[in-house]
Amino acid sequence: MAPRFCADCGQLLVHGPVAGRTRPHCPACGHVVFHNPVPVGLALVKHAGQLLLVRRGQPPLQGYWAPPGGHVEIDESVEAAIVREIEEEAGVEVVLDGLAGVYSQEHVGVMIVAYRGHVVGGEPKAGEDAAAVDYFEPGKLPDQPPPAAGTVVDAWFYGVLNHLLAPWKEGVPCGALS
Ligand SMILES: [Zn+2]
Repeated sequence: MAPRFCADCGQLLVHGPVAGRTRPHCPACGHVVFHNPVPVGLALVKHAGQLLLVRRGQPPLQGYWAPPGGHVEIDESVEAAIVREIEEEAGVEVVLDGLAGVYSQEHVGVMIVAYRGHVVGGEPKAGEDAAAVDYFEPGKLPDQPPPAAGTVVDAWFYGVLNHLLAPWKEGVPCGALS
């Protein structure tokens, strides 16, 4: 929901042209509300030829198996956020090996930065945001139906997962380092 009051000084915001489009802004102090997608990082993490997935404990796609990851905090890089989130969510320490892809679409509010990585320590254990954690053999990933009555974000995220996991589903995880 769009904010009604200025986060800096508390004045009622007005709507008008700023930097090329209509945006809420503050007539008192000049604060402008920019509405931009939020970055989310995740990683395809390999260990002994298997892929690490977590069963999502929260929307979007709650209950689906997906690569672990999460939101980037203001005081960290995307890469650092992925490493931290995977340790929190899946209990394992990872090193990232390279970019797997960047996914964005209008009106979903997030953009996904996907890396490849491998495990360097720890034992899989589901953290707060995960319902379960497991390793999957190539060609033996769980079959997941499209979300029945999901949101736009659910449908988009489902497509991103299918794209990212396709090589693993087919049993040929090309480009993934051991
Ligand atoms: Zn203000």
